[in-house]
Amino acid sequence: MSRVELTGIAKSFDDLQALDDVSVDVEDGSFFVLLGPSGAGKTTTLRVIAGLEAPDVGDVRFDGHSAGGATPAERDVAMVFQSYALYPKQTVAQNIASPLRARNVGPDEMQKRVEEVATLLRIDHLLQRHPGQLSGGEQQRVALGRALVREPRAFLMDEPLTNLDVKLRVEMRAELTRLHRHVGRTFIYVSNDQAEAMAMADRIAVLHEGRIQQVGTPEEVYDHPVNRFVATFVGSSRMNLLDCEVQDEVLIGTDGWRLPAPPAALGHPGRLQLGVRPEDLSVAGEGSGGHALRGVVYAVEPLGDRVLLDVEIGDTVIRVKAAPTVVHEVGQALDVCVDLTRAHLFDHDTGLALS
Ligand code: ATP
Repeated sequence: MSRVELTGIAKSFDDLQALDDVSVDVEDGSFFVLLGPSGAGKTTTLRVIAGLEAPDVGDVRFDGHSAGGATPAERDVAMVFQSYALYPKQTVAQNIASPLRARNVGPDEMQKRVEEVATLLRIDHLLQRHPGQLSGGEQQRVALGRALVREPRAFLMDEPLTNLDVKLRVEMRAELTRLHRHVGRTFIYVSNDQAEAMAMADRIAVLHEGRIQQVGTPEEVYDHPVNRFVATFVGSSRMNLLDCEVQDEVLIGTDGWRLPAPPAALGHPGRLQLGVRPEDLSVAGEGSGGHALRGVVYAVEPLGDRVLLDVEIGDTVIRVKAAPTVVHEVGQALDVCVDLTRAHLFDHDTGLALS
């Protein structure tokens, strides 16, 4: 059992408030991702959970018991970092076994545990090699093996895939989710990569400037972002934002366009922003209906299966993921269809989503 709860955590370094009222509840056995840009406070949160950093205010609980002044060892969590220091003069087997040696585990038990972990990580054929004879991905697996062999109550991972190339990262994502299912322990994983978070997490906490913005499943933060920050941070291509206001049930764009106002906009005076993801836009005539914005093609970027179009709508450039079948040219006028059922509305000044 290892449910991890943070309540009202605050942490400052001199006059910089790194964490402000951070509360999250990580269910036992879940894959929980702390997602946010650089400096958001992700590593500090992980260090507070591990007991490497004491919060100024707030409480960390494991299975309902306050961790209070417990040391990192007493908390029985394993940390895996992006820079993994393996012992270069030891074999892979010796590296993986090192936490067990520190605990005086007998040689037979040690060999059994190392072999089990190596099989799980698919590095059993590498056990007699030295770290210098391994690829980056294999070294990362050895570092994971060293954490796994201890069987801690929870794994805390700080961007462990950052140093791997793109292809290997994608492969390791799948490996980590497989591993998580197999070991069934709580994983708390720090990432600044929204695609990584979406692919692996059961639940995501989006952090920004030391504050939790939203906690939810990948689908919840993607489909129902609570504010503009979450909406634009989550998603493989950035959400488009168009300034507008509502008058007589019509959404009127600052750039002159008009669309029927979604129910959430009605009765909301003042400046708004319409948020639409590039994948929820299409070019008129490509088979998708909807309400249209008149624009001019500004740039064309073929992606193979789709074409990314930058389209000028008045003074605003929006991005559209279009079908690759029709050739588009810079300077061409076209109508961009908006799927209003997938659109979001934000208060322009507070950035909060209207619902
Ligand atoms: P990154 O993705 O870049 O690792 P992060 O979200 O993990 O960022 P943190 O490392 O938690 O962010 O840092 C949050 C803020 O606290 C940053 O502004 C950072 O400079 C500051 N900070 C972190 N540790 C210390 C420290 N020991 N002393 C002073 N400031 C610190």
